Formats: sequence, structure tokens, C-alpha cells
Amino acid sequence: TANAKRLPPWLRRPWPASHSFQHTEQTLESLHIETICSHANCPNKGECWGRGTATVLILGNVCTRNCKFCSVGTGRPKPPDLTEPARLARMVQEMGLKYLVMTSVNRDDLPDGGAGHFRDCIVEVRKQCPSVRFEILTPDFRDNQSEALEILADALPFVFAHNVETVPSLYPKARSGGNYRLSLGLLEMAGRRYPGIPTKSSIMLGLGETDEEVMQVLRDLRAVGCRRITIGQYLKPSGDSLDVNDYIRPEKFQWWADQARQVGFSWVQSSPFARSSYFAERQCT
Ligand code: SF4
Ligand code: SF4
Repeated sequence: TANAKRLPPWLRRPWPASHSFQHTEQTLESLHIETICSHANCPNKGECWGRGTATVLILGNVCTRNCKFCSVGTGRPKPPDLTEPARLARMVQEMGLKYLVMTSVNRDDLPDGGAGHFRDCIVEVRKQCPSVRFEILTPDFRDNQSEALEILADALPFVFAHNVETVPSLYPKARSGGNYRLSLGLLEMAGRRYPGIPTKSSIMLGLGETDEEVMQVLRDLRAVGCRRITIGQYLKPSGDSLDVNDYIRPEKFQWWADQARQVGFSWVQSSPFARSSYFAERQCT
């Protein structure tokens, strides 16, 4: 595409059409499972699906928010699909997964923000596959954070993730339905309520943030107990999404990885292609 031609060389990558990619694709299709890999046009899809892993998007593909960096559709979502937990269990079995990252659209329309459905999915998958480890990447649960965390007590994940996504000054432009303090607050509350579960967050670079602002986000995350982070390049996922402000060089991502470790993060992934769920399964090795 014209867009791909303008990408700097380190962002061009082959898309391996492997047998295992097709197996992943067919399994997901036949079970009607949505993924953020597809909905976000993730550049790592060839690699991740080819490795036999994918990040599932539960609670539908219509979001009640409209973040300008995201290509998921906005509107009025349908009620949670009660067949979803069983379909996910089938998927985990068929793909032989040991680690599953599960995320969702924002469900400001539901009284519990969708927490009950997260729980139901985990509980059902565990019935079939007790050893699978979950990473949940949740919405901010806006006004119901404490209630949502309580609901999750019956289905605790291996990692609890919530993404701040960008620096606070860019929230009005990029994540207008979000609130930076609320996101930090959720990570803090999750860490306090479940001290045995590491919290994780993610930030995209290239939306126009300054280094000082990124540094401050790293410190803010550490201050609420967050110890795992991914830092990656923002790439415009659809024509309607925000333009890329700048392409950050791989060496700079390496520098950010060092900065993150210096402020105390214990698990860091910082590279142009780093995404919240990229190689997430490596957290248990
Ligand atoms: Fe999917 Fe995450 Fe891999 Fe992207 S990095 S393809 S969202 S699993
Ligand atoms: Fe996309 Fe924002 Fe909705 Fe998440 S909350 S799915 S980032 S529009």
C-alpha cells in the first residue's frame, strides 16, 4: 500500500504464510472468535498467529468508546454472548494454548463494565483446560473499578493488564473517553487487592508525546506498583485513525527499555513492534 511504502525500513516486515498461521485462522473463524490482532490490524499477526497464538477480543466488536488510535468500531454493543465462554474453551483446546491474553472492548453500557463476562470466560476455559494461564487486558471499568475487581476474585489471572496507551496530554486527542488518573487508579487498586498478581501496562510512541512526558508515565506507573511494561510504535490502523506523528528509531526503543528498567520495571518490552500482548507468554518462562 502507499502507506507501507512510506514506512521506514525497520517497520517493513514479511508476513509469513505458514501452515500454523492457517490453522490459527481457521480455528478462530470456525469458532467465530474475535481477535484484537485482526481488529487493530496488528503488524505482528503473521508472526503471532504463525506461532499459534492470538489475543482474543471478548464482549463483541463494537465499543462504547471511540479512541482515535484504535480501529475497533464504535456504537451500541449487543448483550454479552453467552456462548462465548464455551467457544473460547474450544479454541484453547484446539490450539493447545498454555497462555491466553484476553481483552475486550469497553462496555460502559454494562453495569459491571463486562467484568462478569471476563470471569465467566476464565472459569469456563479452566473447567476444560485447568492449567492455561490468563493475562487479562481490561477496560478501565470507569465508575465500577472496585466492584469489577471483586467480581474477578473468582477467576484470577496470571497477569492483570490495563493500558495507559499514551501520555496524559494526548488523551483529549487520542483517548477522549479515558482518564489517565482513572487508569492508574485501576492498576493501583488491582495491585493492592491482588498483590500476588503482577500488573502490566503499555504505551505507544509516535503520537506526538515528548520524552519527558513518557518518562513521567513510566514513573507514574511505577508509583502505582506497575512492574511490567511494553513500549511500541503507534501505527495508524485505519484511514480514520490518527496519523503517525513520528517514527521512533529502534535504538531509541532500546534506550527506553533501559530507562524503564532503571525506574524499576522488572519485565520490559520496548521495540517498534512491541504490543501489549506481543510475546506475552514469555512472562511465564
Ligand atoms: Fe495479536 Fe498481540 Fe500478536 Fe498483535 S502482538 S498479533 S495483537 S497477539
Ligand atoms: Fe479501541 Fe478505545 Fe474501544 Fe479500547 S476503548 S476498543 S482502544 S476504542
